[in-house]
Amino acid sequence: MASNKLLESAAERAYAYLEHLDQRAVAPAVDAVVRLDELARRIPEEPTSPEQVIRLLDEYGSPATMATAGGRFFGFVIGGALPVSLAANWLAGAWDQNAGSSQITPIAGALEAIAQAWLLDVLHLPTESAVGFVTGGTMANFTALAAGRHVVLESAGWDVESKGLFGAPEITVVVSEEAHPTLHKSLGLLGLGRERVIRIPSDKQGRMRAEALPEIHAPAIVCIQAGNVNTGSFDPAIEIIPWAKRSGAWVHVDGAFGLWARATEQHKNLGAGLEQADSWATDAHKWLNVPYDCGLAIVRQSEALRRAMAISAAYLPVGESRAPADYTPELSRRARGVEVWAALLSLGRSGVQEMIERCCRHAHRFAEGLQAAGFSILNDVVLNQVLVSFGDPDFTKRAIAGIQQDGTCWCGGTVWQGQTAMRISVCSWATTDEDVEKSLAAMLRVATALKQG
Ligand SMILES: *Cc1c(COP(=O)(O)O)cnc(C)c1O
Repeated sequence: MASNKLLESAAERAYAYLEHLDQRAVAPAVDAVVRLDELARRIPEEPTSPEQVIRLLDEYGSPATMATAGGRFFGFVIGGALPVSLAANWLAGAWDQNAGSSQITPIAGALEAIAQAWLLDVLHLPTESAVGFVTGGTMANFTALAAGRHVVLESAGWDVESKGLFGAPEITVVVSEEAHPTLHKSLGLLGLGRERVIRIPSDKQGRMRAEALPEIHAPAIVCIQAGNVNTGSFDPAIEIIPWAKRSGAWVHVDGAFGLWARATEQHKNLGAGLEQADSWATDAHKWLNVPYDCGLAIVRQSEALRRAMAISAAYLPVGESRAPADYTPELSRRARGVEVWAALLSLGRSGVQEMIERCCRHAHRFAEGLQAAGFSILNDVVLNQVLVSFGDPDFTKRAIAGIQQDGTCWCGGTVWQGQTAMRISVCSWATTDEDVEKSLAAMLRVATALKQG
């Protein structure tokens, strides 16, 4: 095939990129980003050879990347990509299957169905649940909440898919004041409003304060967070869910990264009781370490998700196989269940647990090392997130800038309950003990030099 050479050249460039990640600065050089301007020109009148296209992509693109695929990127909450999931992604890319219909592309639907069962198993969620393979946490929240909106309005005698929200009974929506900003966006997309929510105050770790829960009445949706992006803390599901159920509310869990704690022995207690909820959103592109884009919308009543997402509202004919497009906002889409299947098969239950626990162990090591050097850790390190203050806000900001510039590792800044902090998030399969020691040494070197200088 004429394109073999082209694909080989792309693969070779990818190997070289991954191989050199360890030696380069984590952040891209400023001039590499500036050089991207050279790509900005009018669409050419004449074709460019595919080899030339890939060469440009590598020469200009690769140096302008952040090394998130390596072991020393700790910004935001961003995982890497397990080699097996990247390889599966390449092969599935070659297949170019449209995962929207099992009739057209049986493999995509079959692997999603298997991955669905395995996910529910490792996360200890109700086995009857349906999983929608969507683009990320934001869309997973949107999709699962759409199922909730369907059910709470149907109970109130209203068919929201047919009639929309004009004239519908009002839905009470309860969130924590610490809810992720994208949860508000999802609520906005659903017509429930970003701001017309009841915000429950939270404690010092960012957990919803159960004693502050008001009296609510159906129709209602209550959103719980499993894994605060700053502290890693979980809302107390054991107290919130029974309270929500008393008023007939739908309970949704935003567990974009935290839900994976349920796959472990050591950290599963954080997520105790979450299986009593009605729906859950999580990301596979964060802690399961599959390539972008991959989020998971999980809904206990599979029929509710189907009713909210199916193109035709008709009930599923008995005996019909699972139609993937009935569980996601999209019709045509890539077969992202392939990488989830590959990651889970490769890791097995023990491997998933080991990867999650390893990241948490690394987070503890960061906290211990920074604290031993006299810096303050602002959160209880319960999972994979560490907040460190190097001193006053200005000094901490300068330390973060210095650490980013040093290039050994990359962490971002945040403000936690009024305190400026650097946030360390460990969620890549690629991070080794050596990466942690190297990064810790760099953080201390930069902060100490700033103090003296
Ligand atoms: C990352 C994150 C999201 C958004 O997920 P995306 O995959 O970026 O859309 C939502 N909620 C929480 C708690 C997150 O950490």
